[in-house]
Amino acid sequence: MSVDPSREKFQAYLAQQGLRVTNQRLAIFDAALAQKEHFTAEQLLDRARTIDDSVSRATVYRTLPLMTESHVLREVDIGSGEKYYLANSSRGTQVAQVVCVDCDKIFEISAPFMEWYGSTVSQKLGLKPISQRLQVSAQCIAYRHNGRCPNRLKQ
Ligand SMILES: [Zn+2]
Repeated sequence: MSVDPSREKFQAYLAQQGLRVTNQRLAIFDAALAQKEHFTAEQLLDRARTIDDSVSRATVYRTLPLMTESHVLREVDIGSGEKYYLANSSRGTQVAQVVCVDCDKIFEISAPFMEWYGSTVSQKLGLKPISQRLQVSAQCIAYRHNGRCPNRLKQ
């Protein structure tokens, strides 16, 4: 087994919470970290089951918050009612999302100016910034050309 720092981080978090490191939890973890794009809980369930077919929907929904609390995943809320997740990269945490209004495809861009912006506006009010987010709604290239996106999930 290769040493994956976020896998160790996740296992340490489970131990700290008094939770067992089960094969199902590790299958969910491995499936999540293998994703290059944002994914939903249901997509994660499908992928985790290809690793371990005993993974249940309930375990996925219970494991997702453990992965966000241990900072191996980030939750991305685009206001569609469904939550998206992405593995936390080690590079800067200041990212902004550009979301296609048709297919909900999420593009991430690094946005170092946000840190400056957040601390500047907070300091004006005498406050300390904790977190912030920036989301831009956009039309992806396929949508602009064809009026709909091939990767659109909803009809
Ligand atoms: Zn699109």
